[in-house]
Amino acid sequence: MSARVLIAEDEAAIADSVAYALRGEGFDVDTVEDGESALDAARRDGYDVLVLDLMLPGVSGIEVCRRLRAESAMPIVMLTARTAEVDRVVGLDAGADDYVVKPFSMPELISRVRAILRRRELDLAEPTELRVGSLALDLGRHTASINGEPIRLTPSELKLLSLLARHPGRVFARRELMQHLWDSAYVGDQRAGDAHIVNLRRKIGRERLVTVRGVGYKLVAV
Ligand code: CA
Repeated sequence: MSARVLIAEDEAAIADSVAYALRGEGFDVDTVEDGESALDAARRDGYDVLVLDLMLPGVSGIEVCRRLRAESAMPIVMLTARTAEVDRVVGLDAGADDYVVKPFSMPELISRVRAILRRRELDLAEPTELRVGSLALDLGRHTASINGEPIRLTPSELKLLSLLARHPGRVFARRELMQHLWDSAYVGDQRAGDAHIVNLRRKIGRERLVTVRGVGYKLVAV
């Protein structure tokens, strides 16, 4: 069965060309033109990936992202403007998994969508529960806690943390973390990955996810 993609984009020229390119790759594609319709369609039809423009009329792309993430782990790729660096940080923090910057090439967008689908398949095949000191992960339920207190992590943050938590104390190079995040040697744009790490450190504590200068990061029991 082909993967189903929802495109939320109000600029018809972009929506049409993205839909055309994805259909050409064998994806099953629907398009909507505003935030409210994106929420309705995503909730009703449960897509495999949402390609979400941040600049939508009505409910904003960021708000769509935040609301969907509160209810599901549906993978989200944001489309952002080149000038709006802050949107990317806010969008990733709102739970988007990746972004592409306009104007983007279709092969670039397609490779991001494919990477996210690959990731999701592997995630679904993974076990279980992990514990490092006071930090506990339940990967099946997509939850994390510290001393029993739930912490809200995005799917990408949980994905990074699951690798670190399988090997406590081991130092991972930034590049290794990026490769794990995308399940590939693709490390073209590392800024999304860096933002996930920054957000993750803020959420679980810098004393727990430690920077090893010039080398990378490690998770320690606290
Ligand atoms: Ca737009």
